[in-house]
Amino acid sequence: MCVDCCKEPLLSRYTACHESGIYALNWAGCGKCGRRDLPVPVNLSKDTDGVEDEEETISFVHKCSFCEHIVSEHYYRYYISDGQHEYIMECVLCGKGTDSRCVGVFGDVNDTKVIHPSVEMEISDLFNGLASRIQTIVGTDDEDGEEWE
Ligand SMILES: [Zn+2]
Ligand SMILES: [Zn+2]
Ligand SMILES: [Zn+2]
Repeated sequence: MCVDCCKEPLLSRYTACHESGIYALNWAGCGKCGRRDLPVPVNLSKDTDGVEDEEETISFVHKCSFCEHIVSEHYYRYYISDGQHEYIMECVLCGKGTDSRCVGVFGDVNDTKVIHPSVEMEISDLFNGLASRIQTIVGTDDEDGEEWE
């Protein structure tokens, strides 16, 4: 790992996660030989859990193609947890990112869950009940508040 080649090592990329390529904006040039040419990916490894599309780990190394200088190891992982697609990327050069998406969001439109109107009603009743309780509590607090001055 090398921080000299990056403008900002391990910068936060928020929800950006890529399993290949390079975040060229953060490339400052090779810290060893000074070339500005983008490093090349080497030592690519790809692991899956054997189950289709359930989990995948990809890693490779960004290497300067002129002086063989190792810039950074790129790590990317994808898995499914609690019905969510989870993505993780970590690389000194490309930065850190995590993202999660509901399974089915990009699938068939018919898969999208729609809240039944009666369920929605129950939720709003529940919410109104809570709101009035909170109001009661706040009201009590206000009366006590004057004595605290
Ligand atoms: Zn370097
Ligand atoms: Zn170099
Ligand atoms: Zn990278």
